[in-house]
Amino acid sequence: MIAFDYIRSQSVKDAVTAKAKNSKAQFIAGGTNLLDFMKKYVLQPETLIDISRLPLQEMVMDAKGLKIGAMVSNTDVAENNIVKEKFPLLSMALNAGASAQLRNMATVGGNMMQRTRCGYYYDIAMPCNKREPGTGCPAKDGVNRMHAVLGTSEQCIAVQPSDMSVALAALDATVFLSTAKTERTIPFTDFHRLPGTTPSIDNELQANEMITAVHIPSNKYNKSYYLKIRDRSSYAFALVSVAVAMEVANGNIVNARLAMGGVAHKPWRLNKVEQFLKGKSATPQNFAAAAAMAMDGAKGFGHNDFKIKMGKAAVLEALQKANQST
Ligand code: SF4
Repeated sequence: MIAFDYIRSQSVKDAVTAKAKNSKAQFIAGGTNLLDFMKKYVLQPETLIDISRLPLQEMVMDAKGLKIGAMVSNTDVAENNIVKEKFPLLSMALNAGASAQLRNMATVGGNMMQRTRCGYYYDIAMPCNKREPGTGCPAKDGVNRMHAVLGTSEQCIAVQPSDMSVALAALDATVFLSTAKTERTIPFTDFHRLPGTTPSIDNELQANEMITAVHIPSNKYNKSYYLKIRDRSSYAFALVSVAVAMEVANGNIVNARLAMGGVAHKPWRLNKVEQFLKGKSATPQNFAAAAAMAMDGAKGFGHNDFKIKMGKAAVLEALQKANQST
C-alpha cells in the first residue's frame, strides 16, 4: 500500500470541495472495498477523504417513501423495522451480501460504489480495460465463470457485485447526488452504467459529487423475494440473483418489479417480464412463461454459459417463492 494523506470531512460541502480539488483523492466510508484495492495497488489514491462521520446517517419515512442516508450501515438498513415491514426485499438482499462484519462497516453509498470482483481487474500484472483503458479484456477468452451475459461490450464483460443495488433497482429507488452547491436526483436504474467503450466508468457520479441518500417510494407490493445463487451459502458473490416485488390481489398480479444481479455490469431490470406479468394470474404457467423470456439477448463467453439457463430457472424460482411469501 502506498502512503497517503488522510482528511476527515466535517460536512458534505467540505468533502466534495476537497475531492473536486484533487483528482487523486478518494472518499472513504466503511473502506470494505477500497482498502482491498489499495493493498493490491489496484487503486493508489494520494488522499483519503473520510466521509464516514458526515450527517448522512438518518432513515426517514413519510407518506412518499423511505429516505436512507448514504452513511447508514448495511446492517442498520437490513435490521430496521420499517425496512423489514415495508421493503422486505431490501432487507433480504442486504442480508444475502458479504458477512455480518462487513455489513456492519459497509455503508449504503459505499455498497453502490463497490467495483467488480473480476480477477483480472484485481491483478495488476494483467491487462484490463477497466483498470487501464485500452489494454484489453483477458476475461473474454479467459476465466469468465463469474462474468456477465447481458449488456456486455467488446471492452468489458464484468458484473456489478452489489446485492443491495439489485433490490433498489427493482424498487424504483432514486439516488440523491450533491456537489458543494447543488443537489440532483437520478433513478437508481440509471446510476450504474453498462461498460460500452468506457468500462473504467462504473456509474454516473461526477468527480465533484457525492451520494447523499437513496429514496424508495412507498408501494403496495405484498409479495417479495430475493434469490441469490452462489457457490457457498454465505460470504460469496452471486452467480445469479433475482429480486422480485409483486402486488398480488385475489390471485392476480396487479404489478411486478424484477431485477437481476450477477448477469450484467449493472442491476438488470426485467422490463419485458414485468409487462408480461402485469394483469396476469399468479400461476405456475405464467411464471414459467415469464421466466422463459428473462434472459432474452444473453450471450455467454464459455465458462459462464451456464448462467443463461440458470438465470431462467432463478427467475422462475424467485417468482414462485415471492408468491408464497406473506
Ligand atoms: Fe477488466 Fe472488465 Fe475485462 Fe474484467 S471483464 S478484465 S474488469 S475489462
